[in-house]
Amino acid sequence: MSSLPLSRAAALSAWGAFLPQVRQYAARRNHVEPGHENVSRLSPALRHRLLTEDEVIAGTLDRFSFGAAEKWLQEVCWRRYWKGWLELRPQVWTSWRSRVRELRGTSPPGILERAEAVASGESGVACMDLIARELIGTGYLHNHARMWWASFWVHAEGLPWELGADFFFRHLLDADPASNTLSWRWVSGLQTPGKTYLVRLSNLEKYAGETLLRDPGGSHRIADGAVKPMLQQDWADTTKRPLANLPPEPAPCAGRTGLWLHADDLAPETGLGPRFCPDAVAAFSSERIYRERYRLAEHRIAALHTVLADGVARAGAHFGCPAMLWDTDDPVAAICSWAEAEQLTRIVAFAPQVGPVGDLVPRLSSRLAGMGTTLHLIRRSSDTHAFSLAGSGFFPFWEKMSRHLQTNPVPAV
Ligand SMILES: Cc1cc2nc3c(=O)[nH]c(=O)nc-3n(C[C@H](O)[C@H](O)[C@H](O)COP(=O)(O)OP(=O)(O)OC[C@H]3O[C@@H](n4cnc5c(N)ncnc54)[C@H](O)[C@@H]3O)c2cc1C
Repeated sequence: MSSLPLSRAAALSAWGAFLPQVRQYAARRNHVEPGHENVSRLSPALRHRLLTEDEVIAGTLDRFSFGAAEKWLQEVCWRRYWKGWLELRPQVWTSWRSRVRELRGTSPPGILERAEAVASGESGVACMDLIARELIGTGYLHNHARMWWASFWVHAEGLPWELGADFFFRHLLDADPASNTLSWRWVSGLQTPGKTYLVRLSNLEKYAGETLLRDPGGSHRIADGAVKPMLQQDWADTTKRPLANLPPEPAPCAGRTGLWLHADDLAPETGLGPRFCPDAVAAFSSERIYRERYRLAEHRIAALHTVLADGVARAGAHFGCPAMLWDTDDPVAAICSWAEAEQLTRIVAFAPQVGPVGDLVPRLSSRLAGMGTTLHLIRRSSDTHAFSLAGSGFFPFWEKMSRHLQTNPVPAV
């Protein structure tokens, strides 16, 4: 189904192939072309950190001047900005998840039926239906197509943004709790209050005429000026919380150590320090939770399994220790059983981002503490730095981040 990179080897190879195109990225990135070769399609790899942003930034600056690659670097940093913004306001994620459950349970049947039709590619607007079917068929969409379709859902169809974001989350192979939730909020006018993103036919004609408008059916509905802002109520509290203070690398430890790998960071070869040497590595997936709680599409579940298996195999080879991937109905209970079986004094992990993995942490740390095992979370120093800058809008963030990248180049890995 997918030619998107779902292993570190595939990600490194895709990145190597795309690197020379960075020079043309700014001029070409907005066009939606068949095959999407004008953009990197690295997002599933970056989302799961099969490849890290640090590696991409270092590789870019090794080859190009900052000025020649600025637009590219800025886009790569958007992910970290969104991640940091949500890290400082985790309740926005929780609020979105509970609204999705509530809307599924209480929306009038007409709304849910229309949402189902639009998400199945049966809205009657041919270009929007092509986008929905591409997502279902490939697990990927170009950024511009995401913006147009989200705007169509919210402002032309008048559907709740939360259900549209859920459709993306269930199908995108790069589905990211921060980039997805916050981009949908942005299109809806919640992220930058009062500023909505409105889809316009002339914009599609300019950037996707050949790809999406061969069949003009229904496109009068998105004619310039036809789509008006549909104001959405913000149910989330966006108050900023302090960023948890976490060490950048594991401290030395005398007892047995396990490395818990998860889908938010699958690059254990980088970032754990040269002396870190776990006695065991494990990752945990839960097809049941993916299906029942998140209703993920089958290709999304298969992709999660593939990236985790790749991470575990590499970690086992890298550290020369036993490494396994468990499928379990209860990841917290399974991690505790693993700790017990391996007699672990502590479990080290990259701090999960706000989202499905992060949601496991409170219960996990208290269950482990009850068994006398410590959960030792670390955060890469580049993440801590980026998150600390993500308190307000992207442009103040970028002003500081771009200065930082020019004065403190990320060491090549
Ligand atoms: C409504 C909506 C929902 C989105 N949902 C997701 C999501 O769930 N997961 C996700 O990874 N991205 C999401 N994005 C952001 C963006 O569309 C994708 O990251 C990008 O299209 C991925 O394709 P690419 O790797 O070919 O991008 P490229 O143009 O090649 O960009 C390179 C990398 O930069 C980062 N990046 C680029 N644009 C953005 C952006 N606008 N926001 C955040 N990071 C960016 C990504 O890591 C991307 O892989 C969403 C955007 C919108 C408008």
